[in-house]
Amino acid sequence: MTSFDPGIGAGMDVGLKPVVLIADDVPANIHQLAQLLKDDYRIKVATDGRRCLDLVRRRPRPDLVMLDIEMPQMDGYEVCRQLQSDEKTKVIPIIFVTAKNQVSDEEHGLKLGAVDYITKPFQPVIVEARVKNHIALKRQSDRLHRMAMRDQLTSLYNRHYLMDIAPRKIGDALRHGYPISLVVIDIDHFKAVNDRHGHATGDGVLREIAALLQTQSRAEDVVARVGGEEFVIFLGHCDLRGGVNKAELVRAALERLRPHQLKVTASFGVAELMPGGEGFESLFQRADTAVFQAKARGRNRVVAAE
Ligand SMILES: [Mg+2]
Repeated sequence: MTSFDPGIGAGMDVGLKPVVLIADDVPANIHQLAQLLKDDYRIKVATDGRRCLDLVRRRPRPDLVMLDIEMPQMDGYEVCRQLQSDEKTKVIPIIFVTAKNQVSDEEHGLKLGAVDYITKPFQPVIVEARVKNHIALKRQSDRLHRMAMRDQLTSLYNRHYLMDIAPRKIGDALRHGYPISLVVIDIDHFKAVNDRHGHATGDGVLREIAALLQTQSRAEDVVARVGGEEFVIFLGHCDLRGGVNKAELVRAALERLRPHQLKVTASFGVAELMPGGEGFESLFQRADTAVFQAKARGRNRVVAAE
């Protein structure tokens, strides 16, 4: 959806079995766990720590990692430390499965952020139950996370997500010296749609517009609904001229859309990030002011910010 991949829920192919990654340097140990879990999960295996780190970042991403501690080159503690120190992987639960049965070993593993610690020899039914519980928790937290960053009505990103991602996008653009632009879109006379046709129709119209914005955007753009009838498209590697062209294409497509057989248009404001840098608030404010000017000049048009 966007170049920013939060990593959370990214491995979740809904409807497919969860993925368990088993890392152990002894193939017989992997085999034993795989036999136990293969009916309920998709299994990935690694026989050393580096391979484990590599596989965690590949799709399908694991919903759970079962990690041996004693492995050559990179041990399980180090793998755990690295997974926990990366925003993209720290949400993946880790269970240590090990012959190390000292309380201090377990304490160390849990302090590194593992969710559980299983000592060998283990009871198969207990392992199954623990795996099942931790995956259920992981999926629940994935779901909450997705809900927290998506707008419920349209499934676009919400304001919260936009505010979260914007400083990073701006930082990247300034660091690498490329332009970014923001398009703010406000549906014209939307209140009249709700008043005349009811809220169910109004909601349907918003959904159709959201789908249009999504299809009109590139994978690296962030499309968000930031207010009742207000949307934004955050365009990476795009200057003011490119942003205006983009907005004009979307404006024309929206005019042709006729959601729920209604003629719906919008006013567009476009601003490019100041070359010297500025905060997101300022960028948004300038694009929003341009929207206001578009409304004043008769709506259904694109205005570029000063
Ligand atoms: Mg080992």
